[in-house]
Amino acid sequence: IESILSVNNMVTAFKTSDGLLPAVRGASFSVKKGETLCIVGESGCGKSITALSIMGLLPSNGKVTEGSVMFENKDLLTLKKEDMRSLRGNEISMIFQEPMTALNPVFTVGYQIREPLMIHHRLSKREAHQKGIELLKRVGIPSPASRMNQYPHELSGGMRQRVMIAIALSCNPKLLVADEPTTALDVTIQAQIIDLLNDLKRDFEMSLIMITHDMGVVAEIADRVIVMYAGEIIENGTVSEIFNSPQHPYTRGLLSSVPNVDDPDFHLNPIAGSLPLLNEKISGCRFHPRCPHAMEKCKAVSPVTFEATPTHSARCWLMEDEEVRQHGGQRAGT
Ligand code: SF4
Ligand code: MG
Repeated sequence: IESILSVNNMVTAFKTSDGLLPAVRGASFSVKKGETLCIVGESGCGKSITALSIMGLLPSNGKVTEGSVMFENKDLLTLKKEDMRSLRGNEISMIFQEPMTALNPVFTVGYQIREPLMIHHRLSKREAHQKGIELLKRVGIPSPASRMNQYPHELSGGMRQRVMIAIALSCNPKLLVADEPTTALDVTIQAQIIDLLNDLKRDFEMSLIMITHDMGVVAEIADRVIVMYAGEIIENGTVSEIFNSPQHPYTRGLLSSVPNVDDPDFHLNPIAGSLPLLNEKISGCRFHPRCPHAMEKCKAVSPVTFEATPTHSARCWLMEDEEVRQHGGQRAGT
């Protein structure tokens, strides 16, 4: 299956009083048509910055300094601002964690869903209104016609997220980027939104990039998973590879911190320590200060990417011997 998006060696840096600091350190991955890619990692690992870099929505002190982001033969990093804006309204949409900040509090739901339809699809107000009602209905909002007259604060968090999803779908995007869309919601509503996204992805034949820190969400929605740590992609595999044979100690740590509801004695088992600060210099493997398996080599030399299977790779020296045995020392590159 063809890739719809391919990110190649992307570096995103922020201008700070300490100079230019990289928040994403050479990310490469692709998303196929109809696929759901989850980007997972702790808060601050660079996953949101990766998404904002792709969308051209970085804050003004952030900049992609290297690499390319190919979307259907166009490098998004070289597009003019207005071309990127039009692409965002037509082919790629994004939804965020807190729809209250993305929705405008002073306009009705109806106004906010009609606007993009009138601008990007040149519908009349009446057509846009009808289409808006259909979209609200499609995302599971009861009595959609009367919701059109309501303001965001009159809706629950779950309903607001559904409205955001409806707006995102109004342009019939080929790719939807969702940054922690369920994190602010309670568990039952979370599950409903995940189900909804799964349905919509199928019906609209979209690709989905889902950003989350929650392995439970990943299990529910992902086809492919990339794990980020301190600005680097440290593992990339299919959802079953990641859950059944995680290679990187960090990924294993994330998996062991998924709460098990069937086990009343279960205690969260987070990985000791915390993410390094953006300006912290770390030699070798960026995870070594927290890694229970760190070897001398890990402190000195940054690991290259090793392949466990043709669809599964990770950056960890522990894989070196294993891989030499399996592939005669072929490396996937750095
Ligand atoms: Fe741990 Fe070394 Fe692997 Fe890094 S390269 S994750 S320190 S074993
Ligand atoms: Mg984030």
